[in-house]
Amino acid sequence: MADLVVARKEGLFCVPGQFYIDPWQPVERAVITHAHADHARPGHAHYLAALPGAAILKLRLGDINLDTLAYCERLSHNGVTISLHPAGHVLGSAQVRLEYKGEVWVVSGDYKLEPDGTCDAFETVPCDTFITESTFGLPIYRWQPASAIFKDISEWWRRNAEQGRPSVLFCYAFGKAQRILSGIDSTIGPIICHGAAETLNRIYRKGGISLPATLSVSDVNHKSGFREALVIAPPSAAGSPWMRRFGEHSDAFASGWMLLRGARRRRGVDRGFVLSDHADWPGLMRAITATGAQRVIVTHGHVDVMVRWLQENSLNASAFETEYGTDEEDNTAANEAIAFKESHA
Ligand SMILES: [Zn+2]
Ligand SMILES: [Zn+2]
Repeated sequence: MADLVVARKEGLFCVPGQFYIDPWQPVERAVITHAHADHARPGHAHYLAALPGAAILKLRLGDINLDTLAYCERLSHNGVTISLHPAGHVLGSAQVRLEYKGEVWVVSGDYKLEPDGTCDAFETVPCDTFITESTFGLPIYRWQPASAIFKDISEWWRRNAEQGRPSVLFCYAFGKAQRILSGIDSTIGPIICHGAAETLNRIYRKGGISLPATLSVSDVNHKSGFREALVIAPPSAAGSPWMRRFGEHSDAFASGWMLLRGARRRRGVDRGFVLSDHADWPGLMRAITATGAQRVIVTHGHVDVMVRWLQENSLNASAFETEYGTDEEDNTAANEAIAFKESHA
């Protein structure tokens, strides 16, 4: 049978269904795995996404023509049965399952296997062909349990608070910020969120995700109010005038990339916390094996290494060239736009 999904210049295309998945150029019909800016682009005529992500998609893309599916709900389009399944990456993130004439393909979008309190846990979806991300697809990428990282962050914050200086933690505003909020010990001091993160916090809370109380900088009347605070800010806030109010402070960056030697230094921060919303190498392998797929197609990240490894393990593996970024980092422009809207609201 002909391939159910092919790579076109606009994006991944479901041939019998005549629609795209996370296309990077404007198209008629797009199924969107999640609202990170490299997967959810503006300009499509029709969007389909998982219901828990709807509010975030609209925040980021405006008044789009959006249909939603509950997780596991089925929809038939041009003979293709479409359903969306939790990817465990960010709120509303989904794997796309496509079934046509008895053959099943799954497009993973971005995913993470370790469950966290801020989104539905990754679900294994058996399939014949699995199109997987590989953002951290090198054997060196192995994560510690998130609980250990949250403990490290809390200890760093506690020590700073004891010394009377603010702790500024840079992280991506959508997904990472909420995961950190839900994981840390929120009793140490006040938590202050940059507008870019707070906008997302509000949507998470509305979606039933419990997060500790957060303040915005304007809630703090005097500089002394920042002394014991944890400040959550997007990377784009680093070095901006917004930062000046905190005075002397300790800063840190939370990202999977912090595992790389030099990444922390390049960021010019005091601490790096290795915390990713993507599967690590063992996680990618576990997820791929669990699908039972005989054929694997790899997208973004270290596709060559991953494809070779899969081939050596007797899978039919190849790669799709895509225009997905390696992290939310590539999407600071989108964050900045939201931050700008916030600060001028
Ligand atoms: Zn993503
Ligand atoms: Zn991605």
